[in-house]
Amino acid sequence: MHRIILMGPPASGKGTQSLRIQKLLGIPALSTGNLLRREVESGSELGQEVDSYINRGAYVPDELIMKMVSKWLADNEEKGWLLDGFPRTLAQAEALENDDAFQAPTIAIALDVAEEVLVGRIAGRRECSSCGATVRVEPGAEEVCPECGSTELTVRSDDDVENFRRRYANYRELTQPLFDYYAAKGKLITLDGTTSPDAVFSVIENHFSQ
Ligand code: AMP
Repeated sequence: MHRIILMGPPASGKGTQSLRIQKLLGIPALSTGNLLRREVESGSELGQEVDSYINRGAYVPDELIMKMVSKWLADNEEKGWLLDGFPRTLAQAEALENDDAFQAPTIAIALDVAEEVLVGRIAGRRECSSCGATVRVEPGAEEVCPECGSTELTVRSDDDVENFRRRYANYRELTQPLFDYYAAKGKLITLDGTTSPDAVFSVIENHFSQ
């Protein structure tokens, strides 16, 4: 059974690869970023708390995200799963690995992309309101989702360069150490995320067909 975690800095292509891996393996996936943004949009009390972290580029507290993820896993533990954006800290990784409310992942995929490439991507990034796909748009070009054809593409509220720099700094400080954590367990695959989405996916596909 595949239990996959996908790690990578903001705009490294996690969402795009997640959709493709879900289709390839027929497993459910959770994007913790999407889950948190939906909670913010709902206007709930929890959403307001979450908003105060996301919109200043900070990670939400471990206990809060761990509670949300363990609830989702309890409903989705049978077929295997993919987690996009969780774990992001050592405390989250250790909980996923060892706590009864979670299950240990079988593989950790890390997408590696340099900071300046990511800054360029942030400006052209949109989210499809219809199917949730992450879409890259060129300046002046028509904005259409290549996955479902919808023209309702929105800019994520946390996608500005200043916010990106803070998220990236958190990523380097808090999430990158997980590479060593998973490498020590023999679970880490690092991929060059600067190549095209197709090229990244074909490496992933090869891995799962072996
Ligand atoms: P993402 O869509 O994965 O870029 O996540 C958007 C934002 O949600 C992040 O910048 C964090 O503020 C928050 N977030 C998502 N996943 C986590 C997590 N595992 N731990 C803490 N904060 C998270």
